[in-house]
Amino acid sequence: MYSKSNRSLLNLILSAAKQQSIRQQSNCMAGMEKFGLPKRLQGSTPSVWNEYIALAMQYKPLNLGQGFPDEAPPSYVMDALADIAKSENPMMQQYTRGYGHLRLVQNLGKLYSKLVGREINPLSEIIITSGAYEALYSSIMGHVDVGDEVIIIEPFFDCYEPMVKMAGGIPRFIPLKPCKTEGSISSADWVLDDTELEKIFNEKTKMIILNTPHNPIGKVFNKQELQKIADLCHKWNVLCISDEVYEWLVFDNIEHIRICTLPGMWERTITIGSAGKTFSVTGWKIGWAYGPANLITNLQMIHQNSVYTCPTPIQEAVACSFEVELGRLDSPDCYFRSLPKELKVKRDFMAKFLQDAGMKPTVPEGGYFMLADWTNLEKQININEEKDKYRDYKFTKWMTKNMGLQGIPPSAFYSEQNKNLGENFVRYCFIKKQENLEKAAELLKKLNK
Ligand code: PMP
Ligand code: GLN
Repeated sequence: MYSKSNRSLLNLILSAAKQQSIRQQSNCMAGMEKFGLPKRLQGSTPSVWNEYIALAMQYKPLNLGQGFPDEAPPSYVMDALADIAKSENPMMQQYTRGYGHLRLVQNLGKLYSKLVGREINPLSEIIITSGAYEALYSSIMGHVDVGDEVIIIEPFFDCYEPMVKMAGGIPRFIPLKPCKTEGSISSADWVLDDTELEKIFNEKTKMIILNTPHNPIGKVFNKQELQKIADLCHKWNVLCISDEVYEWLVFDNIEHIRICTLPGMWERTITIGSAGKTFSVTGWKIGWAYGPANLITNLQMIHQNSVYTCPTPIQEAVACSFEVELGRLDSPDCYFRSLPKELKVKRDFMAKFLQDAGMKPTVPEGGYFMLADWTNLEKQININEEKDKYRDYKFTKWMTKNMGLQGIPPSAFYSEQNKNLGENFVRYCFIKKQENLEKAAELLKKLNK
């Protein structure tokens, strides 16, 4: 499966990972402390992605861990990039406008003006970023001051917490909890406690980070839940960062509501999207943020001196791809409609095989991940062979090494004090070819033999 040159690359990556931890230790040697991590970053460790990608390269499991599609994106998306690579216009290979390539911001302006029901200025109210990651980073760095409190809903996409800390902010966590643990469980059964939510807001709160559809639970926040958050944002004069990278991936006719469309919320919301999720091209790393100009300008201040501008050919290709979809938004052929339909079938297939294997899945209303309680399998496996601190890490590593199936440990999406809330679960990604989902089902069947 791996060529000779790929194998040596793999060895290089694995030894680099080992060297990283040795380097961190050797920085403690006399004189070397000076070159350790700066104070604001101390305590940082490699993220779950870096750890689990190295694990996948070593054991070559069926990878339902990191979220990416294993099928080709729509052909017109790839053709657009191929055409641009060969374009006779030399400017296609040069720097483009720093805050966002004109053709792309114009198309995003058209799309979101329609979706949020107000005229969005493509030049001042939209910024193009290096993936949704950078949109999050610029939003947080551009708004959070030292000592500001930022509310993070647990479980959370893992970079939120370190980003807030890098800005000198204080993360305040509030968990979504399942209000049901037996029978069929939906992501809608994971809820915030209203009293806890009210209590966590105070005069120091600067920002709340919302993620809907949610990674890893798949929850799509309903109108009432969003209104509650909006009311508290008004009451305490708080900014809302709404991470909506899975905005098109909703199932069962559930509506994805953009919190910026709630009365009075446009003025205090920055909404984030990702071309990686929108067009199934996670490697393209183009994202965006939109909101009122006075908020977006703060992101521009971070972006201009860190990234400056994103790749021109990729922005142009994303712009061309939006043009195709803008022309057929209401048609069933629109990718934003056909993809969730295909995904729903995969979701149902996965929910069934996880259940058949003895796990308890939470059926997601959106996104492309599924959480499942794996603890019924504990008798069949020996997770204590693994030395990790958290049981979900032990489970996922044991499964990768012994069953050839990789998932992600959800405790990575919790703060230190709440990691126990994630330990009974595993997260699997279902935007995979049917044959691979079938392989996963077969692997899990073996566990029960
Ligand atoms: N937010 C969430 C909730 C995600 O799952 C991801 C993962 N792609 C991102 C942000 C980052 O997106 P991108 O790959 O566009 O940087
Ligand atoms: N968003 C993707 C996931 O949750 C990928 C994250 C990453 O690789 N950093 O799996």
